[in-house]
Parts: sequence; C-alpha cells; structure tokens
Amino acid sequence: MEKGQISVQTENIFPIIKQFLYSDQEIFLRELVSNAVDASSKLKTLVSKGEVSADIDNLMIDITIDKENNTLTISDQGIGMTEAEVKKYLNQVAFSSATDFLKKYKDEASIIGHFGLGFYSAFMVADKVEVVTRSYKKSGKAVKWVCEGDPQYEIGKGEKKQRGTDIILHISDDSKEFLEETRIQHLLDKYCKFLPVQIRFGTKTETTYEGEGDDRTSIETEVDNLINNTSPAWKKKPAKLKDEDYKNFYNELYPFSQPPLFWIHLNIDFPFDLTGILYFPKLNNSIEVQKNKIQLYSNQVYVTDDVKEIVPEFLTLLHGVIDSPDIPLNVSRSYLQSDSNVKKITSYITKKVAEKLAKLFKKDREEYQSKWSEIGTFVKYGMLTEEKFHDKAVKFALLQNLSNEFYTIEEYKEKIKATQTDKHDKIICLYTNNPQEHHSYIESAKNYGYDVVEFNNIIDNHFMQHLESKVGDMTFVRVDSDTVDNLVQKEESRESVLSEKEQEKVKGFFEGALGDGGGFLSMKALSPEDHPVLITKPEFMRRMKEMQSMQGMDMGMMPDSHNVVVNTNHPLIAEKLLKMKGAERKEGFASYLYDLARLNQNMLKGEDMSKFIEKSLSFVG
Ligand code: ADP
Repeated sequence: MEKGQISVQTENIFPIIKQFLYSDQEIFLRELVSNAVDASSKLKTLVSKGEVSADIDNLMIDITIDKENNTLTISDQGIGMTEAEVKKYLNQVAFSSATDFLKKYKDEASIIGHFGLGFYSAFMVADKVEVVTRSYKKSGKAVKWVCEGDPQYEIGKGEKKQRGTDIILHISDDSKEFLEETRIQHLLDKYCKFLPVQIRFGTKTETTYEGEGDDRTSIETEVDNLINNTSPAWKKKPAKLKDEDYKNFYNELYPFSQPPLFWIHLNIDFPFDLTGILYFPKLNNSIEVQKNKIQLYSNQVYVTDDVKEIVPEFLTLLHGVIDSPDIPLNVSRSYLQSDSNVKKITSYITKKVAEKLAKLFKKDREEYQSKWSEIGTFVKYGMLTEEKFHDKAVKFALLQNLSNEFYTIEEYKEKIKATQTDKHDKIICLYTNNPQEHHSYIESAKNYGYDVVEFNNIIDNHFMQHLESKVGDMTFVRVDSDTVDNLVQKEESRESVLSEKEQEKVKGFFEGALGDGGGFLSMKALSPEDHPVLITKPEFMRRMKEMQSMQGMDMGMMPDSHNVVVNTNHPLIAEKLLKMKGAERKEGFASYLYDLARLNQNMLKGEDMSKFIEKSLSFVG
C-alpha cells in the first residue's frame, strides 16, 4: 500500500470534525448515502446518454451493520472511482471542502445539521474509514483507501468484483449507537425516505395470512427492508395525480393523521427550481399541528423541518414538502433571510396559496364556507402579517353572522350599510365573541334590526383592528359595548316618556343605589322592549385590556370600567319606580334592577351575589 499525507497545514481537522457537530453527528449517514445516490445517478445519466452500457434498472444502495467488527457499511453500484479519482476526490476535493466548511461555520453551530460536511463527516462517528471502489471504466481495477482519522492515508489494490463503492466505517467507541439497527432505521427513515435510488437495510419479516376462520394460517417471509419511495408524489406531474394519490402521500409523510382539507402542488423551474406539495391540515388538534411540520428537501434529500426562513410565518402551520436545490443550505440564517432567491421563493409560495384559496372560493363557495373555521385562521393571520396576501385575501376573507351566513367584507358592508351607518358615515359592525353570554344584547340588536357577526378566534381581536385600519369606513363594536340604540346614532333620538324632572328623580334613586362602586351612570330613552337597566363596557377600553392580557402585560393600570344605562322608557322605571312609596323602597328596587343587569354581564360575584339571592328568595317566600 502506498502512503500519503492529505494536507499539511490542517492537521487538526479531524479532532474538530469529531467533536464539533456533536448534536448533529447523525448527518454523516445522510451525507454518505447522498454520495451513493449521486454516484448511482451519474451512472444512469451516462447510460441514458449511451456512453456506457450497464444494467441500471435495479441499482441498489445497501446499508449493513456488522456488530462483531463494529462496522457500518454503505455500498452502492454507482460509477465508482479509479485510483486517480480517489486521490483527487477524496484527498483533495472532499478534504478541502471539509476544511473550508469548518473554517466558515465553526461558530455557527445552530445552522449545522442543515447541510453537510460531505465525505469527511464520516469521521464524526468512525475512527477509521475504508473505501473500496471499482470504477465503471473498463480499465477500472478495484482500489482501497484507508484513513484513520489523521492526515495520513493509505491507498492500494482492493478486492471488489462489482462496479461501485463500499464505504466501511469502523465506528468509534463513543458512537456505538450507530451500530444499533433501530437507530439506523430511524435515521434512514428521517433522511432517506424519498431518495431517488432504492435503499435497502437488510431484511425484515413480513407476515401474510392464508385461509379463513380456523384454517387461517400465518406465513412469515423474509423480504428486503426497503427504505424509500424513489418517486414521491411531489416529483410527479400534477396532471398525473388523483386526489387519492395526494391523500396517500400525506399519509406517507404523517402516518395516522387526519386527512388534509386540501393541497397545493408547487411546481416551478424558473426563475428558481422548486417542487413540493403543501397541505392545509385540519386544525382541530393542536398537538398534531406541532408534530407535523413542513419538510424541506434538496433534490429529495431531507434537510430540515425548520422552514421559518423560507415559508412565510403564517404558513408554517401548513404541512407537506418543499424541495428546492436553489435554497442555499450552506449559509447562515441571517444571510438566508436576505437572499434574493429565498425571498422570491417565499413570495411565490404566498402567491400560490392565495391563488388556491381564491380558486376554491370561486369554484365551490359552499365547500369553502364549510371549511372556513379552519382556513380562516390562516387567512386572517396571513392578512395581518403579509401585505401582499392581504390584498388578495380581502376578497375571500369571510365574516360569519349569527344566522350562519357568510359574507365577504364588501358583501357585508353592502348588507348592513342602510341600517348600520352612523352619522359619521362609518359602518358599524356588531360582533359577539360569546353568543351565550351576550344573549340579551344580541336579542336587543335583533329587535332594532341589526345584524351581529361572530368572532371566536384568538386572532380576531387583531383582525378587527386590521380591517378597521385597512378598510377604513368600518368599525367593529362588541354587542355589549354600548346600548344598541346608541351604536348607530341616528339624528332623531327616541322620545322620552318622562319629563326632565322625572328623569332627574330616577337618576337620584340610582345614584343612591349604586353608591361609589358603580360605573358611569346615564339615563337613556331606549325602547320599552329593552331592559330597564343595562351594563355596557366601552369598546376601546375593553379591547386595550384584552390586547394587553394577550401580550402578557400587567393589567393593573386599567380599571375594569363599565357604564350603567337606565332605560327611562321601560315601564318598570317610568311607571313602577316613580310611583313607589318611600325612599328606601325605591332605592332597594333600583338596586335590585342594577343587580339584574350585573347578573346579565356575569359581574355579580361573592357577597353581592349572596345578597341578591337572599333578596330574591324573600320575594318568592
Ligand atoms: P460532494 O459530494 O459535495 O462533492 P464529498 O466530500 O461528499 O463532496 O465527496 C467528494 C467527491 O468524492 C464527490 O464529489 C465524488 O466525486 C466522490 N465520491 C464520494 N463518494 C462517492 C461514491 N460513493 N461513489 C463515487 N464517488 C464518490
């Protein structure tokens, strides 16, 4: 065997390789299998060009563990290497690329895992690597190269009859885990599931059944343990795929998950190369959302499921696959964000998603509406965070009212314009986030002929604010924010049945009843159908508080303010209260009506509640 020295000035590369990628050691397998895939694909290319004749139909890459000898071997039937090529590619090309890599990224441990060290990553787990290879070239003799993790190597004649390359890793003591079948199976499943050349990891037992009932017997057969689907759905032409195929592929990616709502097949080769399938999942199980993430591939090699830099944030809840050799994987995150290709890819994905939603909306509105509770989260989040997406989505974002009707923003404005425009020409959109709790307010709104939409999503607070600032002539007001009569301030106010003097009197009783603790008191001539006393919570203050608490801020600064509105047109006020004898009785009655209003807003608590119940019981008794 001939001896040689790999390079002079970089003697310490091996110790660095060994410890530096500690947490991501496992990528060595991806790197070596990718090299084997490349070698096989190169052979296929040569054959297809007619430059070589070889049987390429069943090219296989074998992964084998030999526990006795502590080796893990990756064997391919690709183009192999001649002696000169081994010297060139392994001693020079691979070595210098590994050195460059380490120089550049030593301090950026976080980005490692996303791309490889290439061939020399083998030394993260092995203290000796043997390469036995035989070139496809006629003159090719088998060559053996051995390196023990220092700059010296040996090269000489090898024993190998078949074309291809065996990479034999002598696993080091502290990396013994890579001699465990389950560990290797897991890694192959993670990184190699969709590589384009068949990968085999030993055999497995398959059980089939024959016969029926008592005669049923199980038959166990040893079959190849094949790892990958060499032609995954995203690589196929969309026209060739049926719904079933997309659903099956989803299952392949995320076994045992609920079927997706719909999907988008990405397929573009200019100005960048990108394929993939994005799925809209059912969002009703939040744990699953966390578990199933979009996977990023580069030429069918799994890279990562952390796609923050590539996919706009509002779409990271989607599932599926993105495959692009044009995403630069060997650069840092901050660079990735400013990379123009990545920017283009991001806006392409956003555009595609918007187009798909627009198409669904147009083609089958019923269907789209039925999925709105799930799609809505994406759409609203997207509108809030991506200007371009907003511009498209504003046409297919929906508002749902309490009669379960859906309207686009424009349609809704059109619907309520006549009845719900205030004197400043603002369209007042009434909403509830809790129809149960706001029941009496909703009823009152209906009596006035107003419509109420339902918002029940955590994102809706922001979404309303967003629409108000973007759409302009629209304001959202929760149905209990003000007396409904007041929401749309008409020029002509309802007439009061009480004289001003009588109103003053009524106010006096309530002032006494409320004491200091009550909210801001006012007299209003509402409809006699409305409640005698109403408690409303100012929209602006309430929203501010909600925003603060969502952001985990201290709410101590803001008091829980509310208004107490006495409906002077209600018979209990206009007739009963005024006619009552004795100041104490009147105050007691006013106080009881106030308690009823608080009860309606869920504000009656503790001692106040006990007293209220006692008082009520005394009436019944
Ligand atoms: P890269 O694959 O990025 O070029 P590597 O360090 O992984 O870098 O490998 C260096 C070179 O060694 C490859 O470009 C290839 O020419 C050669 N090589 C590595 N593995 C194999 C293999 N299994 N069969 C044939 N050639 C190989």
